[in-house]
Amino acid sequence: MKAIITLVALALSASAVCAKTTVLTADRMIDVDNGKLIKNAVVVIEDNDIVAAGARRTVDIPANAEVHELGDYTLLPGLMDMHVHLTSDATKHGYKGLADSLPRVTLTGVKYAKATLMAGFTTVRNVGAPGFADVALRDAINDGDIEGPRMFVSGPSLGVTGGHCDNNLLPYEFHTVSEGVADGPWAVREIVRRNIKYGATVIKFCGTGGVLSKGTKVGVQQYTFEEMQALVDEAHMRGLTVATHAHGTDGIKTAIKAGVDSVEHVSLLDDEGIALALEHGTYFSMDIYVTEYILGEGAKAGILEESLAKERIVGKRQRENFEKAVKAGVNMVFGSDAGVYPHGDNGKQFARMVRFGMTPMQAIQAATIHPATLLKQQDTLGSLSAGKKADIVGVKGNPLDDISLLENVGLVVKDGHIVKPVAM
Ligand SMILES: [Zn+2]
Repeated sequence: MKAIITLVALALSASAVCAKTTVLTADRMIDVDNGKLIKNAVVVIEDNDIVAAGARRTVDIPANAEVHELGDYTLLPGLMDMHVHLTSDATKHGYKGLADSLPRVTLTGVKYAKATLMAGFTTVRNVGAPGFADVALRDAINDGDIEGPRMFVSGPSLGVTGGHCDNNLLPYEFHTVSEGVADGPWAVREIVRRNIKYGATVIKFCGTGGVLSKGTKVGVQQYTFEEMQALVDEAHMRGLTVATHAHGTDGIKTAIKAGVDSVEHVSLLDDEGIALALEHGTYFSMDIYVTEYILGEGAKAGILEESLAKERIVGKRQRENFEKAVKAGVNMVFGSDAGVYPHGDNGKQFARMVRFGMTPMQAIQAATIHPATLLKQQDTLGSLSAGKKADIVGVKGNPLDDISLLENVGLVVKDGHIVKPVAM
Protein backbone atom coordinates (compact mmCIF):
# COMPACT_ATOMS: atom_id res chain seq x y z
CA MET A 1 0.00 0.00 0.00
CA LYS A 2 1.22 3.43 -0.88
CA ALA A 3 1.68 5.90 1.91
CA ILE A 4 0.66 9.25 0.50
CA ILE A 5 2.54 11.89 2.40
CA THR A 6 0.94 15.32 2.21
CA LEU A 7 2.91 18.51 1.99
CA VAL A 8 2.14 19.10 5.66
CA ALA A 9 3.84 15.87 6.61
CA LEU A 10 6.64 16.67 4.20
CA ALA A 11 7.22 19.95 6.00
CA LEU A 12 7.53 18.08 9.29
CA SER A 13 10.00 15.55 8.01
CA ALA A 14 13.07 17.79 8.11
CA SER A 15 16.28 15.78 7.97
CA ALA A 16 14.27 12.58 8.20
CA VAL A 17 15.96 9.49 6.90
CA CYS A 18 14.04 8.31 3.87
CA ALA A 19 12.26 5.04 3.82
CA LYS A 20 13.80 2.42 1.61
CA THR A 21 11.84 3.58 -1.41
CA THR A 22 10.88 7.22 -1.82
CA VAL A 23 8.99 8.71 -4.73
CA LEU A 24 8.87 12.37 -5.70
CA THR A 25 6.21 13.55 -8.11
CA ALA A 26 6.04 17.05 -9.57
CA ASP A 27 4.44 18.89 -12.47
CA ARG A 28 7.82 19.09 -14.20
CA MET A 29 11.39 17.81 -14.17
CA ILE A 30 14.46 18.85 -16.12
CA ASP A 31 16.23 16.20 -18.15
CA VAL A 32 19.66 17.84 -18.45
CA ASP A 33 21.11 14.93 -20.45
CA ASN A 34 18.76 15.65 -23.34
CA GLY A 35 18.02 19.32 -22.63
CA LYS A 36 14.30 18.65 -22.23
CA LEU A 37 11.48 19.54 -19.88
CA ILE A 38 9.43 16.50 -18.84
CA LYS A 39 5.88 17.11 -17.66
CA ASN A 40 4.16 15.10 -14.91
CA ALA A 41 7.43 13.78 -13.59
CA VAL A 42 8.24 10.95 -11.23
CA VAL A 43 11.56 10.19 -9.57
CA VAL A 44 11.96 6.91 -7.69
CA ILE A 45 14.69 6.75 -5.05
CA GLU A 46 15.95 3.59 -3.41
CA ASP A 47 18.14 4.36 -0.41
CA ASN A 48 20.77 6.74 -1.82
CA ASP A 49 20.20 6.21 -5.54
CA ILE A 50 17.77 7.13 -8.27
CA VAL A 51 16.32 3.94 -9.75
CA ALA A 52 13.87 5.52 -12.21
CA ALA A 53 12.99 9.01 -13.43
CA GLY A 54 10.75 10.31 -16.19
CA ALA A 55 7.18 11.03 -17.21
CA ARG A 56 4.57 9.43 -14.95
CA ARG A 57 3.28 7.12 -17.66
CA THR A 58 6.75 5.64 -18.16
CA VAL A 59 7.64 5.00 -14.51
CA ASP A 60 6.14 2.37 -12.22
CA ILE A 61 5.60 3.63 -8.68
CA PRO A 62 6.59 0.73 -6.43
CA ALA A 63 4.20 -0.54 -3.81
CA ASN A 64 5.17 0.51 -0.26
CA ALA A 65 6.92 3.63 -1.52
CA GLU A 66 6.78 6.82 0.49
CA VAL A 67 5.31 9.26 -2.02
CA HIS A 68 5.85 13.02 -1.88
CA GLU A 69 3.52 14.87 -4.25
CA LEU A 70 4.94 18.32 -4.89
CA GLY A 71 2.45 19.66 -7.44
CA ASP A 72 3.56 22.93 -9.08
CA TYR A 73 7.26 22.18 -8.69
CA THR A 74 10.14 21.45 -11.04
CA LEU A 75 12.63 18.76 -10.07
CA LEU A 76 16.27 19.22 -11.10
CA PRO A 77 19.52 17.44 -10.34
CA GLY A 78 21.25 18.81 -7.24
CA LEU A 79 23.09 22.00 -8.24
CA MET A 80 26.90 22.00 -8.46
CA ASP A 81 29.16 25.01 -7.91
CA MET A 82 32.71 24.51 -9.19
CA HIS A 83 34.30 27.49 -7.43
CA VAL A 84 33.60 28.11 -3.76
CA HIS A 85 35.61 28.91 -0.65
CA LEU A 86 33.46 27.58 2.19
CA THR A 87 36.02 28.63 4.80
CA SER A 88 35.99 32.26 3.63
CA ASP A 89 33.70 34.90 5.07
CA ALA A 90 32.50 37.59 2.65
CA THR A 91 32.60 40.22 5.41
CA LYS A 92 36.30 39.64 6.18
CA HIS A 93 38.42 40.64 3.21
CA GLY A 94 41.91 42.13 3.16
CA TYR A 95 43.38 42.88 6.59
CA LYS A 96 40.08 41.90 8.27
CA GLY A 97 40.83 38.29 7.32
CA LEU A 98 44.18 38.14 9.08
CA ALA A 99 42.73 37.88 12.58
CA ASP A 100 41.04 34.49 12.20
CA SER A 101 42.93 31.36 13.24
CA LEU A 102 42.81 28.13 11.27
CA PRO A 103 40.34 26.52 13.75
CA ARG A 104 38.18 29.65 13.44
CA VAL A 105 38.03 29.54 9.64
CA THR A 106 37.21 25.83 9.79
CA LEU A 107 34.19 26.65 11.96
CA THR A 108 33.27 29.36 9.47
CA GLY A 109 33.17 26.57 6.94
CA VAL A 110 30.72 24.56 9.06
CA LYS A 111 28.21 27.40 8.94
CA TYR A 112 28.61 28.01 5.23
CA ALA A 113 28.58 24.35 4.20
CA LYS A 114 25.03 24.19 5.54
CA ALA A 115 23.99 27.49 3.92
CA THR A 116 25.30 26.22 0.57
CA LEU A 117 23.43 22.92 0.82
CA MET A 118 20.19 24.67 1.82
CA ALA A 119 20.52 26.85 -1.29
CA GLY A 120 20.30 23.69 -3.39
CA PHE A 121 24.00 23.14 -4.09
CA THR A 122 24.52 19.48 -3.27
CA THR A 123 28.06 19.37 -4.70
CA VAL A 124 30.85 21.93 -4.61
CA ARG A 125 34.45 22.12 -5.65
CA ASN A 126 36.31 24.05 -2.95
CA VAL A 127 39.29 25.64 -4.69
CA GLY A 128 41.65 26.95 -2.05
CA ALA A 129 41.54 26.67 1.74
CA PRO A 130 44.23 27.17 4.38
CA GLY A 131 45.58 24.27 6.41
CA PHE A 132 43.41 21.61 4.75
CA ALA A 133 40.37 23.07 6.52
CA ASP A 134 38.39 21.98 3.44
CA VAL A 135 39.50 18.36 3.94
CA ALA A 136 38.30 18.48 7.56
CA LEU A 137 34.97 19.90 6.46
CA ARG A 138 34.50 17.28 3.77
CA ASP A 139 35.33 14.48 6.18
CA ALA A 140 32.96 15.84 8.86
CA ILE A 141 30.18 16.03 6.25
CA ASN A 142 30.90 12.51 5.00
CA ASP A 143 30.94 11.21 8.58
CA GLY A 144 27.51 12.76 9.19
CA ASP A 145 28.77 15.11 11.92
CA ILE A 146 27.65 18.25 10.09
CA GLU A 147 25.43 19.07 7.11
CA GLY A 148 26.91 20.20 3.84
CA PRO A 149 27.36 19.46 0.16
CA ARG A 150 29.53 16.79 -1.42
CA MET A 151 32.93 18.41 -1.50
CA PHE A 152 35.77 18.08 -3.96
CA VAL A 153 38.66 19.86 -2.28
CA SER A 154 42.04 21.28 -3.26
CA GLY A 155 43.70 22.10 0.05
CA PRO A 156 45.99 25.16 -0.21
CA SER A 157 46.18 26.61 -3.75
CA LEU A 158 49.58 26.50 -5.42
CA GLY A 159 51.12 29.80 -6.42
CA VAL A 160 54.39 31.64 -7.06
CA THR A 161 56.17 33.68 -4.39
CA GLY A 162 54.37 37.01 -4.16
CA GLY A 163 51.63 35.87 -6.53
CA HIS A 164 47.86 35.85 -6.18
CA CYS A 165 47.89 32.69 -4.05
CA ASP A 166 50.56 34.00 -1.70
CA ASN A 167 49.70 36.31 1.20
CA ASN A 168 51.24 39.72 0.45
CA LEU A 169 49.55 41.81 3.13
CA LEU A 170 52.36 41.97 5.69
CA PRO A 171 55.90 43.38 5.36
CA TYR A 172 58.99 41.22 4.99
CA GLU A 173 59.83 40.92 8.69
CA PHE A 174 56.70 38.84 9.30
CA HIS A 175 57.95 36.22 6.78
CA THR A 176 54.38 35.35 5.80
CA VAL A 177 54.22 32.72 3.06
CA SER A 178 51.04 30.89 2.05
CA GLU A 179 51.09 27.12 2.34
CA GLY A 180 50.76 26.49 -1.39
CA VAL A 181 53.68 28.64 -2.52
CA ALA A 182 56.19 26.75 -4.68
CA ASP A 183 58.56 27.93 -7.39
CA GLY A 184 59.99 25.64 -10.06
CA PRO A 185 58.76 22.43 -11.74
CA TRP A 186 59.94 20.02 -9.03
CA ALA A 187 58.76 22.27 -6.21
CA VAL A 188 55.24 22.35 -7.66
CA ARG A 189 55.26 18.58 -8.10
CA GLU A 190 56.18 18.25 -4.43
CA ILE A 191 53.28 20.47 -3.31
CA VAL A 192 50.86 18.53 -5.51
CA ARG A 193 52.08 15.32 -3.85
CA ARG A 194 51.77 16.87 -0.40
CA ASN A 195 48.23 18.13 -1.09
CA ILE A 196 47.20 14.66 -2.25
CA LYS A 197 48.81 13.13 0.85
CA TYR A 198 46.64 15.30 3.09
CA GLY A 199 43.37 14.66 1.29
CA ALA A 200 43.06 16.89 -1.78
CA THR A 201 40.91 15.50 -4.59
CA VAL A 202 41.53 18.35 -7.04
CA ILE A 203 44.51 20.64 -7.62
CA LYS A 204 44.16 24.42 -7.80
CA PHE A 205 46.86 26.88 -8.78
CA CYS A 206 47.08 30.56 -9.55
CA GLY A 207 48.19 31.19 -13.12
CA THR A 208 47.90 35.00 -13.15
CA GLY A 209 47.54 37.91 -10.78
CA GLY A 210 44.15 38.48 -9.20
CA VAL A 211 41.67 41.10 -8.11
CA LEU A 212 41.72 40.57 -4.35
CA SER A 213 45.45 40.01 -3.78
CA LYS A 214 47.65 42.92 -2.77
CA GLY A 215 50.23 44.02 -5.30
CA THR A 216 49.48 41.59 -8.12
CA LYS A 217 48.76 42.66 -11.68
CA VAL A 218 45.51 40.98 -12.67
CA GLY A 219 46.49 40.51 -16.32
CA VAL A 220 50.00 39.20 -15.75
CA GLN A 221 50.94 35.52 -15.97
CA GLN A 222 52.33 33.71 -12.91
CA TYR A 223 54.12 30.38 -13.40
CA THR A 224 55.96 29.54 -16.58
CA PHE A 225 54.70 26.97 -19.06
CA GLU A 226 57.24 24.48 -17.68
CA GLU A 227 55.94 24.90 -14.11
CA MET A 228 52.30 24.60 -15.20
CA GLN A 229 53.08 21.54 -17.29
CA ALA A 230 54.88 19.83 -14.41
CA LEU A 231 52.03 20.61 -12.01
CA VAL A 232 49.35 19.35 -14.40
CA ASP A 233 51.36 16.25 -15.30
CA GLU A 234 51.83 15.35 -11.64
CA ALA A 235 48.13 15.83 -10.85
CA HIS A 236 46.92 13.91 -13.90
CA MET A 237 49.34 11.06 -13.24
CA ARG A 238 47.68 10.73 -9.82
CA GLY A 239 44.16 10.91 -11.30
CA LEU A 240 43.26 14.43 -10.16
CA THR A 241 41.90 17.26 -12.28
CA VAL A 242 43.43 20.74 -12.22
CA ALA A 243 41.77 24.15 -11.92
CA THR A 244 43.71 27.32 -12.57
CA HIS A 245 42.86 30.82 -11.48
CA ALA A 246 43.55 32.97 -14.57
CA HIS A 247 42.28 36.43 -15.44
CA GLY A 248 45.08 37.43 -17.83
CA THR A 249 45.16 36.55 -21.54
CA ASP A 250 48.60 34.91 -21.57
CA GLY A 251 48.02 32.98 -18.37
CA ILE A 252 44.72 31.60 -19.68
CA LYS A 253 46.31 30.39 -22.90
CA THR A 254 49.47 28.99 -21.30
CA ALA A 255 47.39 27.05 -18.78
CA ILE A 256 45.19 25.57 -21.50
CA LYS A 257 48.29 24.51 -23.46
CA ALA A 258 49.70 22.96 -20.28
CA GLY A 259 46.56 20.81 -20.06
CA VAL A 260 44.50 22.22 -17.19
CA ASP A 261 40.96 20.89 -16.90
CA SER A 262 39.28 24.18 -16.02
CA VAL A 263 40.18 27.84 -16.10
CA GLU A 264 38.61 30.02 -13.40
CA HIS A 265 37.52 33.64 -13.95
CA VAL A 266 38.80 33.83 -17.59
CA SER A 267 38.26 37.61 -17.62
CA LEU A 268 40.70 38.92 -20.26
CA LEU A 269 40.04 36.17 -22.78
CA ASP A 270 40.86 36.62 -26.48
CA ASP A 271 39.79 34.74 -29.62
CA GLU A 272 42.88 32.54 -29.53
CA GLY A 273 42.02 31.56 -25.94
CA ILE A 274 38.55 30.53 -27.08
CA ALA A 275 40.00 28.49 -29.96
CA LEU A 276 42.47 26.77 -27.60
CA ALA A 277 39.69 25.91 -25.11
CA LEU A 278 37.62 24.39 -27.91
CA GLU A 279 40.62 22.43 -29.19
CA HIS A 280 41.58 21.09 -25.75
CA GLY A 281 38.05 20.63 -24.38
CA THR A 282 38.91 22.92 -21.45
CA TYR A 283 36.12 24.07 -19.16
CA PHE A 284 35.58 27.72 -18.26
CA SER A 285 34.23 28.62 -14.83
CA MET A 286 33.33 32.31 -15.02
CA ASP A 287 32.07 33.99 -11.84
CA ILE A 288 30.00 36.73 -13.41
CA TYR A 289 27.80 37.53 -10.40
CA VAL A 290 30.53 38.32 -7.85
CA THR A 291 31.49 41.64 -9.47
CA GLU A 292 28.21 43.14 -8.24
CA TYR A 293 29.04 42.25 -4.63
CA ILE A 294 32.67 43.40 -4.83
CA LEU A 295 31.76 46.80 -6.24
CA GLY A 296 28.65 47.17 -4.05
CA GLU A 297 29.68 45.84 -0.63
CA GLY A 298 33.42 45.22 -1.02
CA ALA A 299 34.81 48.38 0.56
CA LYS A 300 32.79 47.78 3.75
CA ALA A 301 33.98 44.17 3.82
CA GLY A 302 37.65 45.22 3.81
CA ILE A 303 38.47 44.87 0.10
CA LEU A 304 41.43 47.14 -0.68
CA GLU A 305 40.95 50.15 -2.97
CA GLU A 306 43.52 48.75 -5.40
CA SER A 307 41.35 45.61 -5.68
CA LEU A 308 38.19 47.62 -6.31
CA ALA A 309 40.03 49.49 -9.08
CA LYS A 310 41.02 46.15 -10.67
CA GLU A 311 37.46 44.83 -10.44
CA ARG A 312 36.03 47.91 -12.19
CA ILE A 313 38.04 46.94 -15.28
CA VAL A 314 37.90 43.17 -15.07
CA GLY A 315 34.22 42.61 -14.21
CA LYS A 316 32.91 44.23 -17.37
CA ARG A 317 35.39 42.48 -19.66
CA GLN A 318 34.57 39.16 -18.02
CA ARG A 319 30.87 39.50 -18.77
CA GLU A 320 31.55 40.40 -22.41
CA ASN A 321 33.89 37.42 -22.75
CA PHE A 322 31.41 35.11 -21.04
CA GLU A 323 28.96 35.90 -23.83
CA LYS A 324 31.64 35.25 -26.48
CA ALA A 325 32.65 31.93 -24.94
CA VAL A 326 29.02 30.77 -24.71
CA LYS A 327 28.41 31.69 -28.37
CA ALA A 328 31.56 29.86 -29.43
CA GLY A 329 30.42 26.69 -27.65
CA VAL A 330 33.14 26.42 -24.99
CA ASN A 331 32.40 23.90 -22.18
CA MET A 332 30.98 26.11 -19.43
CA VAL A 333 30.53 25.24 -15.75
CA PHE A 334 28.85 27.17 -12.99
CA GLY A 335 31.52 28.62 -10.67
CA SER A 336 30.59 31.50 -8.43
CA ASP A 337 33.50 32.30 -6.07
CA ALA A 338 31.12 32.15 -3.09
CA GLY A 339 33.06 33.23 -0.05
CA VAL A 340 34.02 36.45 -1.80
CA TYR A 341 30.23 37.15 -1.67
CA PRO A 342 27.86 35.54 0.89
CA HIS A 343 27.46 31.76 0.77
CA GLY A 344 23.91 30.70 -0.02
CA ASP A 345 23.50 33.43 -2.64
CA ASN A 346 25.15 31.14 -5.23
CA GLY A 347 21.90 30.87 -7.23
CA LYS A 348 21.96 34.58 -8.06
CA GLN A 349 24.50 33.85 -10.76
CA PHE A 350 21.95 31.95 -12.89
CA ALA A 351 20.07 35.11 -13.89
CA ARG A 352 23.36 36.75 -14.93
CA MET A 353 24.35 33.72 -17.00
CA VAL A 354 21.08 34.01 -18.90
CA ARG A 355 21.40 37.79 -19.24
CA PHE A 356 24.84 37.30 -20.77
CA GLY A 357 23.96 34.78 -23.41
CA MET A 358 22.92 31.39 -22.06
CA THR A 359 19.50 29.84 -22.44
CA PRO A 360 17.98 28.83 -19.09
CA MET A 361 18.60 25.18 -20.04
CA GLN A 362 22.29 25.91 -20.75
CA ALA A 363 22.65 27.66 -17.40
CA ILE A 364 21.11 24.66 -15.63
CA GLN A 365 23.32 22.22 -17.55
CA ALA A 366 26.35 24.34 -16.56
CA ALA A 367 25.44 23.70 -12.91
CA THR A 368 24.60 19.98 -13.23
CA ILE A 369 25.79 17.65 -15.97
CA HIS A 370 28.79 19.71 -17.12
CA PRO A 371 30.41 19.95 -13.66
CA ALA A 372 29.75 16.24 -13.17
CA THR A 373 31.68 15.61 -16.39
CA LEU A 374 34.49 18.02 -15.42
CA LEU A 375 34.87 16.16 -12.12
CA LYS A 376 34.68 12.80 -13.96
CA GLN A 377 31.63 11.95 -11.85
CA GLN A 378 29.12 11.79 -14.70
CA ASP A 379 28.28 8.15 -13.92
CA THR A 380 26.99 9.04 -10.45
CA LEU A 381 26.14 12.76 -10.43
CA GLY A 382 24.68 15.52 -12.57
CA SER A 383 21.32 14.30 -13.87
CA LEU A 384 18.06 12.71 -12.81
CA SER A 385 18.52 9.27 -14.23
CA ALA A 386 18.63 5.69 -13.04
CA GLY A 387 21.88 4.68 -11.37
CA LYS A 388 22.84 8.15 -10.16
CA LYS A 389 23.03 9.40 -6.60
CA ALA A 390 19.73 10.87 -5.41
CA ASP A 391 20.87 14.51 -5.27
CA ILE A 392 17.73 16.42 -6.23
CA VAL A 393 16.34 19.91 -5.83
CA GLY A 394 12.83 21.20 -6.35
CA VAL A 395 11.74 24.74 -7.15
CA LYS A 396 8.22 26.13 -7.27
CA GLY A 397 7.22 27.08 -10.81
CA ASN A 398 9.26 26.57 -13.96
CA PRO A 399 12.87 27.84 -13.97
CA LEU A 400 12.97 27.61 -17.77
CA ASP A 401 10.42 30.47 -17.78
CA ASP A 402 12.10 32.38 -14.94
CA ILE A 403 15.65 31.32 -14.11
CA SER A 404 15.71 33.48 -10.97
CA LEU A 405 13.43 30.88 -9.32
CA LEU A 406 16.68 28.99 -8.66
CA GLU A 407 17.54 31.66 -6.08
CA ASN A 408 14.84 30.08 -3.88
CA VAL A 409 15.18 26.33 -3.91
CA GLY A 410 12.29 24.75 -2.00
CA LEU A 411 13.31 21.11 -1.73
CA VAL A 412 16.79 19.67 -1.28
CA VAL A 413 17.54 15.94 -1.33
CA LYS A 414 21.12 14.80 -0.89
CA ASP A 415 22.13 11.18 -1.20
CA GLY A 416 18.47 10.15 -0.89
CA HIS A 417 17.86 12.13 2.31
CA ILE A 418 15.46 15.07 2.39
CA VAL A 419 17.70 17.70 3.97
CA LYS A 420 15.37 20.61 3.21
CA PRO A 421 11.69 19.76 2.99
CA VAL A 422 9.20 21.89 1.12
CA ALA A 423 8.01 24.70 3.39
CA MET A 424 4.31 25.44 3.59
ZN1 LIG B 1 38.24 31.95 -5.76
